Amino acid sequence: LNRDLEALRDEPCETLDGHRLALWVNTGLMADVSRSLERGAEGVGLYRTEVPFLLGERFPSEEEQRRIYRDQLEAFAPKPVTMRTLDVGGDKALPYFPIEEENPFLGWRGIRVTLDHPEILLAQVRAMLKANAGLGNLRIMLPMITNIAELEEALVLIRRSHQEVAQEGLDSPMPPVGVMVEVPAAVYQAAALARRVDFLSVGSNDLTQYLLAVDRNNPRVSDLYHALHPAVLAALEAVVQGGHSEGKQVSICGELAGDPLAAVLLLGMGFDVLSMNATSLPRVKKALRSVTRAEAEALVAEVRGLDDSARIRRRLEDLLNDRG
Ligand code: PEP
Ligand code: MG
Repeated sequence: LNRDLEALRDEPCETLDGHRLALWVNTGLMADVSRSLERGAEGVGLYRTEVPFLLGERFPSEEEQRRIYRDQLEAFAPKPVTMRTLDVGGDKALPYFPIEEENPFLGWRGIRVTLDHPEILLAQVRAMLKANAGLGNLRIMLPMITNIAELEEALVLIRRSHQEVAQEGLDSPMPPVGVMVEVPAAVYQAAALARRVDFLSVGSNDLTQYLLAVDRNNPRVSDLYHALHPAVLAALEAVVQGGHSEGKQVSICGELAGDPLAAVLLLGMGFDVLSMNATSLPRVKKALRSVTRAEAEALVAEVRGLDDSARIRRRLEDLLNDRG
């Protein structure tokens, strides 16, 4: 990390005209924690709980999970930590829980698995709530939500876990709950989803994959994975609009948030939180501190008129080159 970027650690992420934007990090391993704090993260927008599940040889017990979650929450307290419920399937397979499918990305993954196995979700949420006792910085987030019924079912299970923890005599507050918007259907239902929860968070990695029908891991089609595709940008704007129409926080936790060029657009679109890899944070902060919010909004309006990803990227590069 060069000096110039290091010096930004304790500076707020504030635009030239004084608009504050929250820069959070994505974590999974304990090693991510120190890197995140060193770089001045203000919270965790995505803690991938499947990471500790992937490291073991069987499902971790509720108590094992509680200890792992406690370490995360304690390391960042009082900063918020957004824990995503288990997101396996797709490209993430647990060795002790094999899923064989022709089309794993369209199959049994994320919330679909844990709603079919409520005992997994209940134990996980109980572990999170127990870990949160006395701290209060937990937020819970649900992956791969595709329809309202899934969300309502998951909310019932979260409330049930909360009651069970209370019955065990533990006083743990009900945390904010949010939905990941990473399936195109959820974009069109952003307001309806937001009405039922406390926040939305765009998973742009999966959302881009599903909007463009391009496998995010297949090198043969990787040149078609256009993170700045006009359709992706239109979807992002729609999610902000939907979430804000219900007065809810809208964040983004896909790789896009860690791209300084894209971050300026996300600012202009009105995202409240950008959550990224700790490594990207200083560069994103630098880019956002070099523009005004009005400029970023004008850029969004201008880019709306461009119908090709390459042209959009060139326009953004020109802007940031101007700012050094
Ligand atoms: C995403 O899909 O953008 C996301 C943040 O989740 P993951 O990369 O873990 O699927
Ligand atoms: Mg995802």
